[in-house]
Amino acid sequence: MKGKFKELKDYADEELLAEIARRSKSKKGLPIKAKCFRCFQEFWIKWNQTTQAHSKKNDYEYWDGKSTKKKICNACLKNLYYNKPVFWNTIKDLKKRKILAGYVSNILG
Ligand SMILES: [Zn+2]
Repeated sequence: MKGKFKELKDYADEELLAEIARRSKSKKGLPIKAKCFRCFQEFWIKWNQTTQAHSKKNDYEYWDGKSTKKKICNACLKNLYYNKPVFWNTIKDLKKRKILAGYVSNILG
């Protein structure tokens, strides 16, 4: 156990996966770390086996339709949903409003 293997022992499981992803060329199948633009907390974006891509729900762009690289954490996404004026204002797409409603009741609790 020396070199990079010893070094990797210092990481927690999710961090370890992300570190391996960072060092390898492909991030396929591994979570990626992001920083929420609202609360500035770091969080993990999971890999979605079904879509074979990182979960879109944490891309703010997906919701507001504007081309930005902003990421939003689950807690802030939930707050967005419950803050109705902001919710109506931000998400114009009716289908996406329904998708977020689904996320909040099924996944985010
Ligand atoms: Zn947040």
